[in-house]
Amino acid sequence: MLYDLRKFLDELAKHGELVEIKKRVDPEYQAATLMKQMDDQGGPAILFKSMKGYEIPVVGNLLSSMRRMGIALGCSPPEIRDKLSYAIANPLKPVIVDNGPVKEVVITDTKKIDLLKMFPILTHAEADAGPYITAGIFTAKDPETGRRNASYNRLMIKGPSKIGLAINIWRHLREFHDKAEAKNEPLDVSISIGVDPAIEIATGLKVPFDELEVAGALRNEPVRLVPGETVKVEAIADAEIVLEGRLRPNVRESEGPFGEFTGHYGHKWEYPVLDITAVLMRSKPIYRGLLGGGFEHVVLGNVVTREPSLYDMVKRIVPTTKNVHIAPYGGGFLVAIQMEKRNEGEPQNAIMAAFTSHVNIKYVIVVDPDVDIYNPRDLWWAVSTRTNGKQDFLFIPGALGHEMDPSTQPDGTTTKMGIDATVPVGELNTKYRRISFKNMDKWRLQDFL
Ligand code: MN
Repeated sequence: MLYDLRKFLDELAKHGELVEIKKRVDPEYQAATLMKQMDDQGGPAILFKSMKGYEIPVVGNLLSSMRRMGIALGCSPPEIRDKLSYAIANPLKPVIVDNGPVKEVVITDTKKIDLLKMFPILTHAEADAGPYITAGIFTAKDPETGRRNASYNRLMIKGPSKIGLAINIWRHLREFHDKAEAKNEPLDVSISIGVDPAIEIATGLKVPFDELEVAGALRNEPVRLVPGETVKVEAIADAEIVLEGRLRPNVRESEGPFGEFTGHYGHKWEYPVLDITAVLMRSKPIYRGLLGGGFEHVVLGNVVTREPSLYDMVKRIVPTTKNVHIAPYGGGFLVAIQMEKRNEGEPQNAIMAAFTSHVNIKYVIVVDPDVDIYNPRDLWWAVSTRTNGKQDFLFIPGALGHEMDPSTQPDGTTTKMGIDATVPVGELNTKYRRISFKNMDKWRLQDFL
């Protein structure tokens, strides 16, 4: 079973999780505004059939819910974390094939490349610096070891074949670029747009090897790659569109602002510049959009892809941990841990373990098994009724946070905080017994209305 974007769209349609919009929609602001409204309603994925000024349709909101994540991975939502953990532990290397659907059209004459004219690249939030490609799978190789990496980077269109891109300091791609730059050499990259959702999910991970190997393991079938036409790095053979290019060495230009996963505008930064050297695509491609400030960005980049390592870290320290969740409404900065506490102090140790699992994690709330970590009301209830500020709040000043969190210091540091909202050992069924009501499963309100 070889998946690509089109098969995923068929699958979504079968499950009633895809809506087609036939009215003409403008890629400048309008599509993003509609995607945001669909997000807020918790609605299905969207296929915009008719884009103003373009023959190419646009899809978005594909993976904004755990339900659609489950459809993408062929499992139920609660099984997603284990499926990802298994794939990370059992990677399967990609295979390189001579040809693939993405090479139906190959343009290497850079005079014929004009990204904005060719593709309905969306302009998203009101104060964005311009149109951005947001769902491109970046592949590049370590200039010293040759190891491949896959990552997302936001791409600001700066000219017909010129792109400005954001690379945080903790990115593998940044390491590769630093190494190439030290020798004053460009870094070859390839950007695949519109691929199998397993590849999109794997690319959201950070593992010390090629993320495409995780995608292969998720499918139990290796990802198919094609050699680059103008660069020394492979592209995804079954993608809708591929852009090849080179990152210039020792050049920095302003990039941003851009409406980010934090719900704020990522500031204007000085970042590297990329020159596009070739465009590969299917003869009738579909463009994949992803809302920068939308739910899909957080669920894909911060929730599903970081819960496996978070769970492993916390479980190692407190084996009676029952579940962990990175709350999407917290922009990926807020974590909830549910545990069977055996001894005082275990929540504090779990909090410290959670902080080490990813740089973004800033607030951690630990609760007992009677609290639903997926329900914000339940979490706030536990914090409100089961904590005693001075002894239950733990502060770690001066820790490294995420630079896109606008509340971090200019040097990137922040104070991280943990909240132990568990009750004292032995008191869950006495002093802290939670109110319950008789026969909640049997006497259903709807039967009485
Ligand atoms: Mn990586």
